[in-house]
Amino acid sequence: MAGDGRGANLLVADAGIPEAVLRISSNLPDCRREDGTIGVSAGTALDELSRFAADEGLAGLGFASGIPGTVGGGICGNAGAFGSALGDVLDRVEVLTRAGEKKSISRAELDFGYRGSSLPQTGDVVVRAWFRATAGDRAKLVAEREEILAKRREKHPDWRVLPTAGSFFKNLPPETAGGHRRAAGKYLEQAGAKAMREGGAYVFEKHANIVIAGPGATARDVARLTARMAVTVREKFGFELEPEVRFWGQV
Ligand SMILES: Cc1cc2nc3c(=O)[nH]c(=O)nc-3n(C[C@H](O)[C@H](O)[C@H](O)COP(=O)(O)OP(=O)(O)OC[C@H]3O[C@@H](n4cnc5c(N)ncnc54)[C@H](O)[C@@H]3O)c2cc1C
Repeated sequence: MAGDGRGANLLVADAGIPEAVLRISSNLPDCRREDGTIGVSAGTALDELSRFAADEGLAGLGFASGIPGTVGGGICGNAGAFGSALGDVLDRVEVLTRAGEKKSISRAELDFGYRGSSLPQTGDVVVRAWFRATAGDRAKLVAEREEILAKRREKHPDWRVLPTAGSFFKNLPPETAGGHRRAAGKYLEQAGAKAMREGGAYVFEKHANIVIAGPGATARDVARLTARMAVTVREKFGFELEPEVRFWGQV
């Protein structure tokens, strides 16, 4: 069994996958203030959680503004932007284990790292999450959110119009301890990735780390294109790019 959110970070084989997929997704947000935390269902859109926090004057979740997908998918991949990630503000989750039991898991047990957690290994499915909420200035938080959304609109394709999984490869570790991660897009651009395409899949003109599944694109096209992108970076710079997007099935 596999747990799925909105598929915003997945490349699923053209032939499908043999497992049953449990889709944890909801059209209506379900966010509540609960004892100094925000309690939210795993199927709530991450962006709705961020909107709720800003509207309630609660700080810490502005960075998640505009990140597609669900709260559950975001926790699984420790979604983040602008130097913050969900694991920094999560308090605990309630999961359904592979054995079908409900269990509460603390933030520490989720073993968060850059774009990862222990969830893919354990197979636990998040059903509800609680985030630490600190009081902030509502007007400032709403303005910060609008600013982040505007920045994202400038840089990212609208996934409703141009199908994409966002950044395809993970950013690279910092060169010096405590420094910033290095943008994979910068190396891809210098290696000439923006001119690449494979079948219906092509690299977004404004961001060399974003692949668009254009009309008629197959998962195979995306896999071939991204493999070529990784090879050009290896040949030019001598290091391996690691996909952030998860592959499901034999792509
Ligand atoms: C335009 C665009 C921009 C993006 N920008 C960013 C960004 O700035 N930062 C960033 O981090 N990501 C970004 N992404 C990637 C994507 O939004 C995130 O990875 C998101 O968290 C995926 O959520 P999802 O619900 O779609 O998960 P899915 O893609 O459906 O699943 C991803 C993984 O999570 C697991 N999963 C899903 N739901 C659950 C659950 N309830 N319990 C346990 N496991 C679960 C799945 O099994 C899978 O392994 C972007 C994507 C797009 C399309």
